[in-house]
Amino acid sequence: MIAAARLRARKPERARHPWIFEGEIAELPHEVKDGEVTAVLDHRGSFLARAYCNRRSKIVLRVLTWQDEPVDGAWWKRRVSEAIARRGPLQAGGALRLVNAEGDGLPGLVVDAYARWLVVQISTLGIECVRDAIVEALKESYVPDGIYERSDVPERELEGLQQRTGVLLGDPPKEKIEIVEGAARLLVDIERGQKTGLFLDQRLNRAAAAAYSRDRSVLNCFAYSGGFSVHAALAGARAVTSVDISAEACRLARENMSLNGFPDSEVIEANCFTYLRDASDAGKTYGQIILDPPAFARGKATLESAMRGYKEINLRALKMLEPGGILVSCSCSRPLSPRDFLGVLWSAAADAGRSMQIVEERGHPPDHPVSLDAPETSYLKCVILRAL
Ligand code: SAH
Repeated sequence: MIAAARLRARKPERARHPWIFEGEIAELPHEVKDGEVTAVLDHRGSFLARAYCNRRSKIVLRVLTWQDEPVDGAWWKRRVSEAIARRGPLQAGGALRLVNAEGDGLPGLVVDAYARWLVVQISTLGIECVRDAIVEALKESYVPDGIYERSDVPERELEGLQQRTGVLLGDPPKEKIEIVEGAARLLVDIERGQKTGLFLDQRLNRAAAAAYSRDRSVLNCFAYSGGFSVHAALAGARAVTSVDISAEACRLARENMSLNGFPDSEVIEANCFTYLRDASDAGKTYGQIILDPPAFARGKATLESAMRGYKEINLRALKMLEPGGILVSCSCSRPLSPRDFLGVLWSAAADAGRSMQIVEERGHPPDHPVSLDAPETSYLKCVILRAL
């Protein structure tokens, strides 16, 4: 008999969860090597799934398919090409996520397209072992100018993997890649930028926020390369101020503002906590404030302090918002539920003595789908509020 993993009876609510933890496993024969794909049997010994294995990770098995089918080179090609096909045609010169890990049935793999370049991010050993098959699949389905790897994510440590970056296909890009996002032109540094170069998950939220920017003075906090700022300026904002703590991010933001015809737009290198405090103490006001901080909570343990952080920046922002002003408040903290995030916003508004209306509750764009079986992989919240 071929070696297979056997599970204990799973809790009904975890029946189809793609992550199988150590405690859920009754037996994992040593013939099943870390990084390999194995059959998974349920507690009765019937076929349940095929999953890749890594005993070093708390998530020992990650399900690839619930069907009894071979997971071979052809299978990987099919999964990758199906994910790409689901996106439909890419806007010429546009940027889009082509593979979103669990959301596309490919745990551990993210692929982003920046015009003709692809950026691959591998966060698990199971995917690391099939890197060549993935590259082949991308070459065939997308025909890119080049493929760059940005496997420099902390999750890799939990899998016993080193960080890895570099060219997988083609020549290294000579300069930053210019992409279009709606009316905006944005430069993307796929080699050194944050994430895979751009926060693609905020693509539609940037457009949504800009719909309120006309004739307003806009403050964009945690601006990174100025995506929200460019969209706001193009939509007719009276003035835009971008603030970020990273000098490199500020350089990119300045470049992007210039590229779109706003060379004089203000970009400030500062800690937003300090900037928001000083600006509100000085009595400054804005017609629109955008808050898109990094994840303050990575796990449950830091959730409470994270909520204090969110409350503080939102409270400061609310104090500076003109009557009728728009607050665009985001959180990408996975452990913070949309409901609890609204609770934080409510509490900040109560302290600021402001009556706010929720005009939009937004989340991930469709190229960042979330598996219904793995709801905890959802993280992005973007609430648009108007001051009454
Ligand atoms: N809104 C951006 C993405 C923001 S990511 C976009 O649409 O592209 C979060 C940004 O916050 C990063 O650029 C990071 O450099 C910055 N950052 C992190 N901590 C900060 C702090 N305390 N003050 C200001 N910026 C900070």
